[in-house]
Amino acid sequence: MPTSKLLASSFNERGVYPCPVCRVGKITNMPLMEAMYCDFCHQIFTINIEKQQLKMPSRQPPLIWHWNGLTWTEAQLEGVELGWGYVLGAIAFVSLPTGLIGIIAYHLPPRADAPITWLPSIWTVLTFLSHFTIIFWLFVEIYQIPLMAYWRAMQQRFLHR
Ligand SMILES: [Zn+2]
Repeated sequence: MPTSKLLASSFNERGVYPCPVCRVGKITNMPLMEAMYCDFCHQIFTINIEKQQLKMPSRQPPLIWHWNGLTWTEAQLEGVELGWGYVLGAIAFVSLPTGLIGIIAYHLPPRADAPITWLPSIWTVLTFLSHFTIIFWLFVEIYQIPLMAYWRAMQQRFLHR
């Protein structure tokens, strides 16, 4: 496949493009279909030439990518904008309860002879970890398909060697 095809500026159904999921394979048009197929992770994508868009319909809501002329933009969930509001919300969700419990633990320390003086500190750490885990899980939930597809593809590649 000539590399000049990879440098084509606009997305069209005859081109060869890097796979946005595994970032290893190449996606090419499936004959007679408005779809593209990755030769590495075997994902199938539907294409929208007008919008320069690639969609992975195998999950709901579908993940979509836009072609910027050189590469695919970060994956987006169709109909979902992950803006700064969400980022600030996530930071607040982790830091506020942790901060609150940390302040209480700092200003109201247990008596030095109490048997569980370490409890407030541990509780602060646990609060942070539990809230952070929820945010991390949400993040993975959004992006898990690319990660999992990549992992599966790598496993297959090594197993079939
Ligand atoms: Zn792929």
